[in-house]
Amino acid sequence: MNRIDLEEMEKMLDLAEEAMHHAYTPYSNFQVGACLRTSDGEYYLGCNIENASYTPTVCAERTAMFKAVFDGKRSFDGIAIICSGNNPSFPCGVCRQVLSEFCESGMPVLSSNRNREYTVCTLGELLPHSFGIGDLKA
Ligand SMILES: [Zn+2]
Repeated sequence: MNRIDLEEMEKMLDLAEEAMHHAYTPYSNFQVGACLRTSDGEYYLGCNIENASYTPTVCAERTAMFKAVFDGKRSFDGIAIICSGNNPSFPCGVCRQVLSEFCESGMPVLSSNRNREYTVCTLGELLPHSFGIGDLKA
């Protein structure tokens, strides 16, 4: 995992904001965009995609992560998330678990509201004592 400086995080926030405009949200009208940076410096973007039966709805973070994993990426430096709401959009519990499968606990997670007011914390702060592959070993 490479360290990300504030300038890079701002760039990722720009990309996440672009991604947010791709959201499909006819039910909640709450848009989210995410920019996930791989350790080899590539960016994977995601948006939330809703569904009429609700449960198949997927978050922006998982859209970005699954695109990256499909392309063979397994190592990440950080993620920036922005939403259309007044409060910063932190990853939901499911997305925290998905991120923990591939990301180190020290990975920065930037969470922003629509006005680009954001906080940065680590994945480990969002999901302490996570369940991982090591827990499946006897
Ligand atoms: Zn989520």
